[in-house]
Amino acid sequence: MTDEELHRHLVGRQGSRRDLNTPVLVVDQDALDRNIARMADFAAANGLNLRPHAKTHKSAAIARRQIAAGALGQCCAKLGEAEALADSGIEGILITSPILSAPGIERLVALNERAGGLMCVADNPVGARAIAAAVTARDGRPLTLLIDVDPGIHRTGVASPEAAVELYRAIVAEPALRYGGVQYYCGSQQHIESFAEREAAMHDRADYLRTVIAALEAAGGKPPIVSGGGTGTHRIDATLGLFTELQVGSYVFMDDQYHVCALTPEEGEVPFETSLLIDTRVISANSPGLVTVDAGIKSMATDAKPPLIAGGAAEGTVYFFMGDEQGALVHPAGELPALDAIVSLNAPHCDPTVNLYDWYHSAYATTMSSPIF
Ligand code: PLP
Ligand code: MN
Repeated sequence: MTDEELHRHLVGRQGSRRDLNTPVLVVDQDALDRNIARMADFAAANGLNLRPHAKTHKSAAIARRQIAAGALGQCCAKLGEAEALADSGIEGILITSPILSAPGIERLVALNERAGGLMCVADNPVGARAIAAAVTARDGRPLTLLIDVDPGIHRTGVASPEAAVELYRAIVAEPALRYGGVQYYCGSQQHIESFAEREAAMHDRADYLRTVIAALEAAGGKPPIVSGGGTGTHRIDATLGLFTELQVGSYVFMDDQYHVCALTPEEGEVPFETSLLIDTRVISANSPGLVTVDAGIKSMATDAKPPLIAGGAAEGTVYFFMGDEQGALVHPAGELPALDAIVSLNAPHCDPTVNLYDWYHSAYATTMSSPIF
């Protein structure tokens, strides 16, 4: 079913949010669209391209909204995301993790035949050569590779300017490959709570990237694309004069993890709104001082603090986990929602929360419910 068919199918259920079986993922469509527009305007005003990260939303419908607002395409963390988006007609995909396994490379080069403007990162000549061999074996079209540069997390990326140059030489030596530039995602800096401290940390990381780019330039490999940036550092990234494009992800939803971070230098300014909610229901109220809701460990990411409450409960209500399928609400003065009440929770960490669900249900604008891949 296309999104449009689904929309027609669901229009008759307008206003049915309360009747949804909980727990359920709800998107405030108006807030989502405002977030998309704000980041698009920010990138345009700063002369940067925008290729937002689909690892956050895993949704062709949201990708289309970002592209309609001016994004060049989408970033994907994994092949499966890239395949789902490409097969929904999305072009300009950058896969931001190296792909090394033989079956993964087969899928990658097959995708490159049907996806316009596909790019992938590599962090090792071994991987780059294996991709080149797979392209050559099928007489396929050349694949564009970006050099993934380790910003110091030691997760992926080349570990030195010399290693970047070696990989650059390996890429340009292969007729089946094209050199696209570099990727530099500073994951450890994104959630530094103070803007000034995050800015200082990014300036330090930018100095290192300059040495990598200088080494590439000296070898004849000035990077056409320098992709990086996240929701936490986007304001800073835009001032560095290094990036050509941003690969921000979480800004579309704004989770609790990002709400504690000052995203701009202005005290109290919050440029993005919470647009992702977990609607849950009070299913038991038999014990004094607490009620039980039907969202637990299986309903949201648990790598962050327990969720804040977005609506449906008195100010000061606190959620804590009660197990796989349940959570409890407590309130200092005992003001608790009644049995069968709907309580909306924020997502503690948006990307791994979305990954637990199959559908978004849109609130307020009632435009569509759309699948999560
Ligand atoms: N790029 C990469 C490689 C990432 O891993 C992530 C998120 O983890 C992002 C971009 C998006 O960052 P954020 O969600 O902080 O905007
Ligand atoms: Mn994340």
